[in-house]
Amino acid sequence: MAIDMLQRPDQSTVQKTIRVTGVVQGVGFRPAVWRLAQEFSLAGHVYNDDDGVVICCRGSEHAVDGLIARLQSAPPGQSHISKIESWPSEEPLHSEGFVIEESHHKQNITQLKTGVSADLATCPDCLRELFDPTSPRYRYPFINCTHCGPRLSIVRSIPYDRANTSMAVFELCPLCQSEYDDPADRRFHAQPNACPVCGPSLWMTDQSGQRLEGDPIAVAQAALRAGKIVAVKGVGGFHLAVDATHERAVDRLRQRKRRPHKPLALMARDLPVIERYCFVSEQERALLQSAAAPVVLLNGRQAPSAGIAPGQQRLGMMLPPSPLHHLLLEAFDTPLVMTSGNPSGQPQCICNDSALDKLAGVADLFLLHNRDILNRVDDSVVQVSGLLTQVIRR
Ligand SMILES: [Zn+2]
Ligand SMILES: [Zn+2]
Repeated sequence: MAIDMLQRPDQSTVQKTIRVTGVVQGVGFRPAVWRLAQEFSLAGHVYNDDDGVVICCRGSEHAVDGLIARLQSAPPGQSHISKIESWPSEEPLHSEGFVIEESHHKQNITQLKTGVSADLATCPDCLRELFDPTSPRYRYPFINCTHCGPRLSIVRSIPYDRANTSMAVFELCPLCQSEYDDPADRRFHAQPNACPVCGPSLWMTDQSGQRLEGDPIAVAQAALRAGKIVAVKGVGGFHLAVDATHERAVDRLRQRKRRPHKPLALMARDLPVIERYCFVSEQERALLQSAAAPVVLLNGRQAPSAGIAPGQQRLGMMLPPSPLHHLLLEAFDTPLVMTSGNPSGQPQCICNDSALDKLAGVADLFLLHNRDILNRVDDSVVQVSGLLTQVIRR
């Protein structure tokens, strides 16, 4: 139908350029526009630039307006549109169909206005694949799709394209490439797309950086059960993990981190585990399960051990924010302490070498991977007070 219109333009055919600003990169925005363009039989193209997303489309006036209305009424997934502007244009279209183009860079732009999405907790579909023995990504700690996965933490520069992220060094294998290229696939243009064949990998080391034999997740779990302190390279930085029910391990962590009293954040496998230790309202449940996977301060029933939050009524709880954490937590029906992996008074470590250097006196073991964290992203902390959600730390 789109081709028909190009061949026989009539009075109702219009062409518009639409500029969308806000958090519109790294959220599957261009693939969503592509699908809408198919639905509305529009010709044209969409691309990212330094200011957001630009759509150039031609079709019936009704269809072009329909696309804009749909973006306004049902914006794609995790996007936050701050503005949609459109104007008639005569920019030449590059094909008869609708295509996703390479990102356009403007020269000498010092103010990069676009917000790349925050990192997004594992979506239900990826979680299912993670624990499905028939999936090529069964137990793969870096599974993701356009609905979930790392974003801000892996971006070197915008536009948000794989070449501008720390995934650039991993060349897509045929499977990942075919998903990346398939508009019908959940991983269509998923920039961090990866699998065990082509993507990042995980390993475990001792304090000296010596690699340990065995499945790194299993080794880490055994160490945690034995009361060891494990430095975990997470999404936006390192955490220090211990078994929260292990009194002596918690004490040792506090001593080594020189953090005698401040409450320690906890991570639990699922809501039932959290509900054994805390009261969880409907609103708090939604926050825990949100894509931001924040630490939520909850009214405690009982602390997993005395040293977690001395003298505090509230416990900071979070659900696993990434597949790596889902795998690590799977074996525990009690929470783990997940406190930021930084030497006292310093920012959270983000690279393997600095973690091995700075946390050597704190962690017994290190769970490392080779997907570089380019931007430090601390866990956000929120609490519900009355009907309000208060952000304690963004
Ligand atoms: Zn996903
Ligand atoms: Zn692959």
